[in-house]
Amino acid sequence: MKWKDREKSGNVEDRRGMSGKQMVAGGTIGTLAIIVIVWLLGGDPGQLVNSLQSTGSGFAADNTAVVEAEAELAEFASVVLKDTEDIWHSIFNTSGTTYKEPTLVLFSGSVESACGYSSAATGPFYCPADEKVYIDLSFLAQLQQRLGATGDFAMAYIIAHEVGHHVQNQLGLMDQLHSLRGNVSETVYNRNLVQIELQADFLAGIWAHYADRTKGILESGDVEEAVNAASSVGDDRLQMQSQGYVVPDAFTHGTSEQRRNAFLKGYQTGDLSEGNAF
Ligand SMILES: [Zn+2]
Repeated sequence: MKWKDREKSGNVEDRRGMSGKQMVAGGTIGTLAIIVIVWLLGGDPGQLVNSLQSTGSGFAADNTAVVEAEAELAEFASVVLKDTEDIWHSIFNTSGTTYKEPTLVLFSGSVESACGYSSAATGPFYCPADEKVYIDLSFLAQLQQRLGATGDFAMAYIIAHEVGHHVQNQLGLMDQLHSLRGNVSETVYNRNLVQIELQADFLAGIWAHYADRTKGILESGDVEEAVNAASSVGDDRLQMQSQGYVVPDAFTHGTSEQRRNAFLKGYQTGDLSEGNAF
């Protein structure tokens, strides 16, 4: 992806090097926490969490290489965020509505949001209550190493997926999902959650479609990187890696094939109405 020296978003809140507990007092863990859409439920970032805990803030102050890599990732993330802002503004404008830009919070170790307290083990997530996307940059490195998803566009896909949840929130879909919680069986709820997740993958594909057409930012191999990332984080593959077997009722994001197909559908069609199928 072409991203160097491009415009960055002003909506990035850098909380790296700060402990989550110090940031906001009294986050409401509980009801709000259940509406957090956790991007990666099945991961096992125990190693990462341990290393973050052992370095205290997680900022790894004496590791220059890590600091430099994170600085580059932070810059990359804000360029991608700016691209999502431009594309979603134009899509919302076309339908006569106004897109409200989300904030991207970069954190390390743990973070406090309006959805409660989250450790890096949570993975990237979107909190509908404060309309912010939360990403631990070291997670991206973990994705690369552990899941085999490589390349910058794989990371762009992750950010675009979380921004997809913000779009869903603006369209009222998050409230609909939340209202199901506790009123339907866990299995039915999870099925709806999978639909929401696949639609976010689809919306990431829609973004890639227009980002490429209007900005020409994609390079050869980028779509494959995103597709590979989408496949890498399918529930079936994650569950196989973490526990050695697959429990379909516990799926909350969709299988690797479903996630891959959802992204590609958005990317290839650029047609929002195709997203109703999820
Ligand atoms: Zn998600």
